[in-house]
Amino acid sequence: MTLSDSPETVADRLARVEHRIAKAARGIGRDPAAVKLVAVSKTHDAEAVRAALAAGHRRFGENRVQEAEGKFPDLKAEYPDLELHLIGPLQTNKAKHAVALFDVIESVDREKVAAAIAEASEKLGRRPRCFIQVNTGEEPQKAGCLPAETDALVALCRDTHRLDVVGLMCIPPADDEPSLHFALLAKLAARNGLKELSMGMSGDYEVAVRLGATYVRVGTAIFGARDYTPA
Ligand SMILES: *Cc1c(COP(=O)(O)O)cnc(C)c1O
Repeated sequence: MTLSDSPETVADRLARVEHRIAKAARGIGRDPAAVKLVAVSKTHDAEAVRAALAAGHRRFGENRVQEAEGKFPDLKAEYPDLELHLIGPLQTNKAKHAVALFDVIESVDREKVAAAIAEASEKLGRRPRCFIQVNTGEEPQKAGCLPAETDALVALCRDTHRLDVVGLMCIPPADDEPSLHFALLAKLAARNGLKELSMGMSGDYEVAVRLGATYVRVGTAIFGARDYTPA
């Protein structure tokens, strides 16, 4: 399915997702403004991003540095308040490019990456906010540090590498009850004194909001199905 098959526009879908986030937040007595929507535009072109910008949205997520470099520099020049999140794995040799373009890096999951971000930050005089990605399902193929390694990695990133660590991020296993993972992430964040929780995608963002998400990352429900599934 492509967007043109659908009578709904990006603006309609954005409004619906925002409405559902607000409803889920109010339902448990949270301030809806405490939950921020990251519109995940990976695989979609700059025109799709423009439609969201025209509707007033300013926060986007991309999972590949190179793909983001193809769409966002011009858009960021045009919309200085655009906030761009890196949500996919970062290779150390791309750290400089990532620090130059992204405002938030959500996928810090090992010390080498933290060190590369720190070095690039120093060189470029830009200090992106960082999330530590936790592999809550302990899936061998998935990025993220193990839950048991989280406290140590947070300390290393904060104290040794002086990253601006603001929170934790997770992607639960596809076939598991997401609430267990969201609750675990919330617990790990609380015990490390971290305020931000990036959790919840198109299929489960309302559950995530009820369990304390401060950022939800939603792609398909806003931009439609992707033509291919990036690794
Ligand atoms: C693609 C992606 C999303 C968005 O997924 P949807 O199911 O399309 O909402 C969220 N987080 C990460 C890390 C992603 O790679």
